[in-house]
Amino acid sequence: MPRLRKNIKPTLYVKKGVKQVNKLDEDAVSKFSLSKKKNNISVDSYVKGILNGNISILSQAITLVESAKQEHREYAQKIINSCIPYSGKSVRVGITGVPGVGKSTFIEALGVYLIERGNKVAVLAIDPSSEKTRGSILGDKTRMTELSSCKNAFIRPSPSSGTLGGVARKTAETIVLCEAAGYNIIFIETVGVGQSEIAVNSMVDFFLLLMLAGAGDELQGIKRGITEMADTIVINKADGDNIQKSELAKTEYKNALHLFPRTESNWQAEVKTASAITGSGISDIWDIIKKYELFTKESGFFETKRNRQAKYRMYEAVNEELKLRFYSNNVVRKKIKELEKELLSGKISPYFAAQTLLDL
Ligand code: GDP
Repeated sequence: MPRLRKNIKPTLYVKKGVKQVNKLDEDAVSKFSLSKKKNNISVDSYVKGILNGNISILSQAITLVESAKQEHREYAQKIINSCIPYSGKSVRVGITGVPGVGKSTFIEALGVYLIERGNKVAVLAIDPSSEKTRGSILGDKTRMTELSSCKNAFIRPSPSSGTLGGVARKTAETIVLCEAAGYNIIFIETVGVGQSEIAVNSMVDFFLLLMLAGAGDELQGIKRGITEMADTIVINKADGDNIQKSELAKTEYKNALHLFPRTESNWQAEVKTASAITGSGISDIWDIIKKYELFTKESGFFETKRNRQAKYRMYEAVNEELKLRFYSNNVVRKKIKELEKELLSGKISPYFAAQTLLDL
């Protein structure tokens, strides 16, 4: 591993006479918090700020979590460790569905509903494609305008680059910080196209799949594995001319779900119709999530799942780091080129090549 320069602390930009950055401007925050200017703030100040629910400080801590710089990430780890005792008390809800299904409209409707009832809601995203698409999830700041204007809402776009594993790790760590800041409901949004759902499922308590009533091919819209992972399926946009079609789709999904074996939680997945536009069904969905929480807390599954997720993330982090250290090792880098040549000229087998590298 590269040697780290000691005593480099990320900084909080402090304007003359002003205690902190008041306006939440992510670009400015990241630019200043990661620069090595004066007015360093300590881990303690970060933690205090987060525990006080200071959104600017929370945002800066997340920027450290997301930073590509090793020293920032190490600093972030200290903040996270101090926040761990204050974390874990939220309900973490994963929300997925194909683009256009209405995820952000739905999250906005549910989020506003929950905030009106005294909750603090954070919305995060896992979008490993964001590097290519410049942030297809939550990237557009005009989304969730009503929710983002609520004092008790915190909306954070997906980290702007990285592998799925990296993005998932950053999101999992961001959850800890948000919980320490008092957010008691965390939504994790992802696009329903495959791998990222598995990553989301490794960090949420409840997994909600948004679907549209289609023309007879309801079960084709999304990969079967994802449907099986869902704790509840919501047929969204059940309004206007779409109500009848949505009810039909609901029946079809209900029938289909009964054919799946029950998941380990022993929870029978539910199917509901909703409209993020009219608000119909939104409160029912929250009731289901609360019912699930109660059900799994009573059975012990809630804790079992969280413990398993924590262990999974530890092993994932070890795996990622091992790979990184291995491939960035100079001896390996040199030898790998030679072995590649021998492999491609048919002199050695892939397995022999791999073994030689691992034995270096
Ligand atoms: P996302 O890509 O899954 O986040 O989808 P959006 O939330 O951006 O919604 C896509 C489009 O569907 C937008 O034009 C929304 O106004 C519309 N939409 C979202 N929810 C509903 C709903 O419940 N009913 C109707 N009629 N339209 C909706």
